[in-house]
Amino acid sequence: MDHVVVVGAGLAGVRSVEALRAHGFAGRITLVGEEPHRPYDRPPLSKAVLLGQADSTVVDSDLEALDVRLCLGIAAKGLRDGVVETTEGELDYDGLVIATGASPVRLRGEGRQHVLRTIDDALALRAQLVPGARIVVIGAGWIGAEVATAAAKAGCAVTVIEAGEAPLSAALGVAAGGHTIPWYGKAGVELRLGAMVGSVDPDGVTLMSGARIEADVILTCVGVRPAVDWLKGSAVAVEDGVVVDEHLRTSLANVVAVGDCANWWSRRFGRRMRVEHWDTALGAPDTAAATLLGEVAVYDPVPYFWSEQFGHMVQFAGHRGTAERLLLRGDPLVDEKWAVCWLAADDRLAAILTVDRPRDLVQGRRVVEGGQRLDVTRLINPAVTLRDC
Ligand code: FAD
Repeated sequence: MDHVVVVGAGLAGVRSVEALRAHGFAGRITLVGEEPHRPYDRPPLSKAVLLGQADSTVVDSDLEALDVRLCLGIAAKGLRDGVVETTEGELDYDGLVIATGASPVRLRGEGRQHVLRTIDDALALRAQLVPGARIVVIGAGWIGAEVATAAAKAGCAVTVIEAGEAPLSAALGVAAGGHTIPWYGKAGVELRLGAMVGSVDPDGVTLMSGARIEADVILTCVGVRPAVDWLKGSAVAVEDGVVVDEHLRTSLANVVAVGDCANWWSRRFGRRMRVEHWDTALGAPDTAAATLLGEVAVYDPVPYFWSEQFGHMVQFAGHRGTAERLLLRGDPLVDEKWAVCWLAADDRLAAILTVDRPRDLVQGRRVVEGGQRLDVTRLINPAVTLRDC
């Protein structure tokens, strides 16, 4: 293999370049990215950047030392066997890494709607977060909650509109997500639950019920879709992202996929997974590079995610799909620090959500990995360390 092309210059793309070199690949590497910026990290965009604590989040990677040809401001628009078609012509490859991430969903309507995916989005939004500005955030998911935190801190009048019955309900379910409802009121943020937005208008939003909410700034935070349109008509199978096996191999020879755009087979969970989390973009490239270079490697992590919202460090590990019941460690109404555990029928831990309990998270992730049964009477006692349950 002489030439590897990596399409997508986000975290997963950069880590793929690093992993190829770490696995001893000495041939040419070309990294193609649609954005004009050097690769940067996205998690700080809704945290430090919006709070005015950082202007740049460039990934700490010495691309010159990695001897990579960096093609920025260039988009891939098609794929044939051995050839990537780009906006600047064709690129031949022997091996290809697809790392094109995801793009935000937008809603109907004529009004300006901000989204938050890029550094440019973050800087444009930050400029609007001024005291007294009326901000409507559509979607109380992870990013919506972080933006609401920053906007409230900046002195804006913030309304969050959520279609579900609780914040984070899509990710955590209503019961667990519901424990975060009081955080909104405490921060002075108005939270409207069970409200569907019909359209985004120039001066606010109209709900499906016909009600109007006026706003100076509207941010749509209702999720993302894998950025895989450029693969239409190619031999790469796509279904909710690029379909890959446990080695991160696509349906086309010598092509692997990583990060937000990859839908991989998990042995551990016995199902396909597409996880839009930083830790996946960080970890998957090592397996993908090994696979591309003919080594045998399997990607099968316990997914991990964190969020910083309303002064709390919220962390999640596992996959709650197989869980039968949910238990609390601590009482969110009384304790500042608490956790939610999702248990399978045989009392094995399927997933854990921790609020300001980082040790629970670390130990919980190991317990999910290890698959041991837990003593439920000990588990509900937050004074007992999780690894002793
Ligand atoms: P991306 O970061 O999306 O990178 C893909 C790159 O490919 C992009 O630069 C894109 O422009 C480029 N591209 C797309 N199509 C093409 C094409 N056709 N040709 C060339 N280039 C293309 N995760 C956490 O775990 N914790 C957090 O707290 C957290 N906070 C977040 C906050 C924000 C605001 C956002 C947006 C995400 C956050 N995430 C967080 C998620 C995490 O950042 C993503 O999972 C991670 O960025 C995925 O990396 P990626 O490289 O797969 O995709």
